[in-house]
Amino acid sequence: MHFAVCSFHILIGNEGGRLENIFSEIKAILPMTEVAAYYGLHVNRSGMACCPFHEDKNPSLKIYPQNYHCFGCGVSGDAVDFAARLYNLSQYQAALKISDDFGFNLTKTDYVPQAKNVLDEKRHFEQWEKSAFDNVCKYFKLLQKWREEHAPKNMDEQPHPLFVESLQEMGYTEYLLDILTV
Ligand SMILES: [Zn+2]
Repeated sequence: MHFAVCSFHILIGNEGGRLENIFSEIKAILPMTEVAAYYGLHVNRSGMACCPFHEDKNPSLKIYPQNYHCFGCGVSGDAVDFAARLYNLSQYQAALKISDDFGFNLTKTDYVPQAKNVLDEKRHFEQWEKSAFDNVCKYFKLLQKWREEHAPKNMDEQPHPLFVESLQEMGYTEYLLDILTV
Protein backbone atom coordinates (compact mmCIF):
# COMPACT_ATOMS: atom_id res chain seq x y z
CA MET A 1 0.00 0.00 0.00
CA HIS A 2 2.74 2.40 0.87
CA PHE A 3 4.41 1.80 -2.44
CA ALA A 4 1.76 3.91 -4.11
CA VAL A 5 2.30 6.71 -1.64
CA CYS A 6 6.09 6.70 -1.98
CA SER A 7 6.10 6.56 -5.76
CA PHE A 8 3.53 9.33 -5.78
CA HIS A 9 5.76 11.61 -3.74
CA ILE A 10 8.85 10.79 -5.78
CA LEU A 11 6.89 11.47 -8.93
CA ILE A 12 5.62 14.81 -7.75
CA GLY A 13 8.97 15.68 -6.20
CA ASN A 14 10.93 15.24 -9.44
CA GLU A 15 9.03 16.92 -12.20
CA GLY A 16 6.16 18.50 -10.39
CA GLY A 17 8.23 20.33 -7.81
CA ARG A 18 7.28 23.70 -9.11
CA LEU A 19 3.62 22.82 -9.05
CA GLU A 20 3.78 22.05 -5.40
CA ASN A 21 3.75 25.74 -4.44
CA ILE A 22 0.78 27.35 -2.73
CA PHE A 23 -1.03 24.25 -1.69
CA SER A 24 1.82 22.86 0.41
CA GLU A 25 2.65 26.30 1.69
CA ILE A 26 -0.88 26.87 2.94
CA LYS A 27 -0.88 23.56 4.74
CA ALA A 28 2.57 24.09 6.24
CA ILE A 29 1.82 27.56 7.55
CA LEU A 30 -1.89 27.70 8.33
CA PRO A 31 -3.41 25.57 11.07
CA MET A 32 -6.88 24.24 10.30
CA THR A 33 -8.19 26.00 13.42
CA GLU A 34 -7.21 29.38 12.05
CA VAL A 35 -8.76 28.76 8.68
CA ALA A 36 -11.95 27.54 10.35
CA ALA A 37 -12.09 30.60 12.61
CA TYR A 38 -11.37 32.98 9.75
CA TYR A 39 -14.29 31.60 7.79
CA GLY A 40 -16.65 32.04 10.72
CA LEU A 41 -16.59 28.84 12.74
CA HIS A 42 -16.66 28.91 16.54
CA VAL A 43 -14.44 26.13 17.70
CA ASN A 44 -15.05 25.13 21.33
CA ARG A 45 -12.50 23.91 23.85
CA SER A 46 -12.80 20.32 22.75
CA GLY A 47 -12.07 21.31 19.19
CA MET A 48 -15.68 20.95 18.04
CA ALA A 49 -17.73 23.35 15.97
CA CYS A 50 -21.18 23.45 14.42
CA CYS A 51 -20.89 22.02 10.94
CA PRO A 52 -21.66 24.54 8.17
CA PHE A 53 -22.36 21.70 5.75
CA HIS A 54 -25.49 20.32 7.38
CA GLU A 55 -28.14 21.46 9.88
CA ASP A 56 -26.08 21.14 13.03
CA LYS A 57 -27.41 22.16 16.45
CA ASN A 58 -24.80 20.43 18.58
CA PRO A 59 -21.24 20.81 17.36
CA SER A 60 -20.34 17.66 15.44
CA LEU A 61 -17.50 18.99 13.32
CA LYS A 62 -14.15 18.06 14.83
CA ILE A 63 -11.25 20.35 14.01
CA TYR A 64 -7.89 18.54 14.03
CA PRO A 65 -4.63 20.53 13.69
CA GLN A 66 -4.52 20.01 9.92
CA ASN A 67 -7.93 18.58 9.07
CA TYR A 68 -11.61 18.50 9.85
CA HIS A 69 -14.15 15.73 10.06
CA CYS A 70 -17.90 15.93 10.64
CA PHE A 71 -19.44 13.15 12.68
CA GLY A 72 -22.88 14.28 11.56
CA CYS A 73 -22.74 14.40 7.78
CA GLY A 74 -19.38 12.68 7.28
CA VAL A 75 -17.53 15.39 5.34
CA SER A 76 -13.81 15.70 5.93
CA GLY A 77 -10.68 17.23 4.48
CA ASP A 78 -7.97 19.80 4.99
CA ALA A 79 -7.97 23.61 5.13
CA VAL A 80 -8.10 24.07 1.36
CA ASP A 81 -10.83 21.49 1.06
CA PHE A 82 -12.78 23.33 3.76
CA ALA A 83 -12.70 26.60 1.79
CA ALA A 84 -13.51 24.72 -1.42
CA ARG A 85 -16.58 23.13 0.17
CA LEU A 86 -17.71 26.30 1.90
CA TYR A 87 -17.52 28.48 -1.21
CA ASN A 88 -18.21 25.78 -3.76
CA LEU A 89 -14.80 26.12 -5.42
CA SER A 90 -12.35 23.68 -6.96
CA GLN A 91 -9.30 22.83 -4.84
CA TYR A 92 -7.22 25.05 -7.07
CA GLN A 93 -9.59 28.02 -6.77
CA ALA A 94 -9.83 27.50 -3.02
CA ALA A 95 -6.03 27.54 -2.69
CA LEU A 96 -6.02 30.85 -4.56
CA LYS A 97 -8.77 32.20 -2.33
CA ILE A 98 -6.90 31.27 0.84
CA SER A 99 -3.66 32.70 -0.49
CA ASP A 100 -5.60 35.90 -1.13
CA ASP A 101 -7.46 36.00 2.19
CA PHE A 102 -4.38 35.23 4.25
CA GLY A 103 -2.02 37.47 2.29
CA PHE A 104 0.17 34.88 0.63
CA ASN A 105 0.40 37.32 -2.26
CA LEU A 106 -0.05 34.71 -4.89
CA THR A 107 -2.58 35.54 -7.54
CA LYS A 108 -3.98 33.62 -10.40
CA THR A 109 -1.95 35.66 -12.89
CA ASP A 110 1.31 34.99 -11.01
CA TYR A 111 0.59 31.42 -10.78
CA VAL A 112 -0.85 30.15 -14.03
CA PRO A 113 1.97 31.39 -16.31
CA GLN A 114 4.39 29.66 -14.04
CA ALA A 115 2.59 26.38 -14.57
CA LYS A 116 2.59 27.08 -18.30
CA ASN A 117 6.33 27.67 -18.32
CA VAL A 118 6.83 24.24 -16.92
CA LEU A 119 4.85 22.90 -19.84
CA ASP A 120 6.78 24.92 -22.40
CA GLU A 121 10.20 24.23 -21.03
CA LYS A 122 10.03 20.52 -20.82
CA ARG A 123 9.41 18.42 -23.86
CA HIS A 124 9.04 15.21 -21.98
CA PHE A 125 6.59 16.87 -19.68
CA GLU A 126 3.66 15.54 -21.66
CA GLN A 127 4.80 12.02 -21.18
CA TRP A 128 5.34 12.69 -17.53
CA GLU A 129 1.99 14.38 -17.35
CA LYS A 130 0.18 11.34 -18.64
CA SER A 131 1.82 9.01 -16.17
CA ALA A 132 1.40 11.62 -13.46
CA PHE A 133 -2.28 11.91 -14.23
CA ASP A 134 -2.71 8.14 -14.13
CA ASN A 135 -0.77 7.88 -10.90
CA VAL A 136 -2.57 10.76 -9.28
CA CYS A 137 -5.90 9.19 -10.25
CA LYS A 138 -4.88 5.86 -8.79
CA TYR A 139 -3.67 7.50 -5.62
CA PHE A 140 -6.89 9.50 -5.38
CA LYS A 141 -8.97 6.32 -5.56
CA LEU A 142 -6.82 4.75 -2.89
CA LEU A 143 -7.37 7.76 -0.64
CA GLN A 144 -11.13 7.58 -1.18
CA LYS A 145 -11.04 3.95 -0.15
CA TRP A 146 -9.03 4.71 2.99
CA ARG A 147 -11.33 7.55 3.90
CA GLU A 148 -14.35 5.28 3.79
CA GLU A 149 -12.79 2.23 5.38
CA HIS A 150 -10.90 3.93 8.19
CA ALA A 151 -13.16 6.83 9.20
CA PRO A 152 -13.25 7.26 13.01
CA LYS A 153 -16.40 5.92 14.64
CA ASN A 154 -16.54 8.47 17.45
CA MET A 155 -15.10 11.83 18.48
CA ASP A 156 -12.59 10.57 21.03
CA GLU A 157 -11.07 7.90 18.87
CA GLN A 158 -7.57 8.64 17.53
CA PRO A 159 -7.98 8.75 13.76
CA HIS A 160 -6.39 5.87 11.82
CA PRO A 161 -3.12 6.90 10.07
CA LEU A 162 -4.53 5.97 6.65
CA PHE A 163 -7.62 8.07 7.35
CA VAL A 164 -5.39 10.99 8.33
CA GLU A 165 -3.33 10.51 5.18
CA SER A 166 -6.51 10.59 3.13
CA LEU A 167 -7.51 13.86 4.80
CA GLN A 168 -4.11 15.37 4.26
CA GLU A 169 -3.52 14.27 0.71
CA MET A 170 -6.94 14.11 -0.90
CA GLY A 171 -7.42 17.84 -1.40
CA TYR A 172 -3.92 18.18 -2.72
CA THR A 173 -4.44 15.26 -5.07
CA GLU A 174 -7.59 16.89 -6.41
CA TYR A 175 -5.67 20.11 -6.75
CA LEU A 176 -3.01 18.33 -8.82
CA LEU A 177 -5.70 16.85 -11.01
CA ASP A 178 -7.03 20.39 -11.49
CA ILE A 179 -3.59 21.62 -12.51
CA LEU A 180 -2.86 18.66 -14.76
CA THR A 181 -6.06 19.35 -16.66
CA VAL A 182 -5.40 23.12 -17.00
ZN1 LIG B 1 -21.70 18.07 8.87
